[in-house]
Amino acid sequence: MSRPRRVTVLGATGSIGLSTLDVIARHPGRYEVFALTGFSRLTELEQLCLRHRPQFAVAGDVDQAKELSGRLTRAGLSISVLHGNAGLCTVSSHPGADVVMAAIVGAAGLEPTLAAVKAGKQVMLANKEALVMSGALFMQAVRDHGAQLLPIDSEHNAIFQCLPGTYGDGLGRCGVRRILLTASGGPFRDTPLDELHDVTPEQACAHPNWSMGRKISVDSASMMNKGLELIEACWLFDATPAQVEVLIHPQSVIHSLVDYVDGSVLAQLGNPDMRTPISHALAWPERIESGVAPLDLFSIARLDFQAPDLDRFPCLKLSMEAAATGRSAPAVLNAANEVAVAAFLDRRIRFTEIASIIADVLAALSIVEVDTLDAVLAVDTQARRAAESWLKRNGR
Ligand code: NDP
Ligand code: MG
Repeated sequence: MSRPRRVTVLGATGSIGLSTLDVIARHPGRYEVFALTGFSRLTELEQLCLRHRPQFAVAGDVDQAKELSGRLTRAGLSISVLHGNAGLCTVSSHPGADVVMAAIVGAAGLEPTLAAVKAGKQVMLANKEALVMSGALFMQAVRDHGAQLLPIDSEHNAIFQCLPGTYGDGLGRCGVRRILLTASGGPFRDTPLDELHDVTPEQACAHPNWSMGRKISVDSASMMNKGLELIEACWLFDATPAQVEVLIHPQSVIHSLVDYVDGSVLAQLGNPDMRTPISHALAWPERIESGVAPLDLFSIARLDFQAPDLDRFPCLKLSMEAAATGRSAPAVLNAANEVAVAAFLDRRIRFTEIASIIADVLAALSIVEVDTLDAVLAVDTQARRAAESWLKRNGR
């Protein structure tokens, strides 16, 4: 029997990281944990190290790394503890790792994920922001370095499952008419519009179907998440924005669909639990048990669909426009959104101001070509500064 596949989990202390470790622990002979990374939750990272015994751990900064290293040594474990972006890139590109789960939230995940791609790893991509920021560059690196990119986002994983293995030859050649990207509509799908400016971070994070980290929960509430996913789908499947249609499906049972020219529409269904796409990508092209309960269609009984209302969800509209504009527009959109969501979670701005900040930053900055990592990072920095100065200007 071949040796277990060694997995680096970037963002191990987060929601996707923990679900990944749950699946791995169900298959001890098949996978082993090579490296775990965290950022602010040091005690959680320590607990994960005690349980999964990786060769490497990566903490947020040098002091945390010293602290963690001391605690692990006292527990009798010999684990190398690194820190910061350099530490993340080391464990994501390390020759000892076969698979990298990219589950850091936001732009902070870009460099380590790209490092995994450039090292030709099997990369399981949850960190959609990395692809949104640097799509052309990222996909070129996947091709140049022979990396195997597997989508973890439930919708993209569903689309991947509904496409033929030859989709890389072009969607048209495979007879694909469109991709149908489903969205739950989040907690504010039916909230009266005039109440949206008073909603709290707690309400925004209380997603009706999925349990997720706080940033993506707010993105789901604003439907920015679907906007980022539209851009993500275009890069992953070489689709134009016009080939991707967003539809609200409140039950979150159909995770997305592919519409073919002969009238066939293939869908992937399942309970809303990220362990399904994680297991699918980990074992691909095989299938493994994930711990997810079987789907009970009788208890679901009905599946509903509606078109998204772009007045209710201006972030979705802004993302559609950024997808069509291309070049640096998606990176600007993403950076402004990250700053705005953090400010909302900090109670410095209203929910409805997230879209205002993004719109103002997109209007203020010129859109440029971004064909190097430095260019992407420069756009990201510039857009963050513009969003911060919006906050300052408006007394937040
Ligand atoms: P969480 O907030 O739960 O976890 C984020 C992880 O990233 C944590 O391990 C966190 O460490 C780490 N992290 C945060 N900031 C930094 C930083 N600056 N440097 C290094 N590490 C950092 O998020 P989720 O797990 O929900 O989401 C992760 C990614 O997966 C996101 O891109 C999200 O869009 C995507 N995704 C998530 C889904 C879900 O169901 N949760 C579904 C589809 C996609 P610490 O906690 O120690 O601070
Ligand atoms: Mg998703």
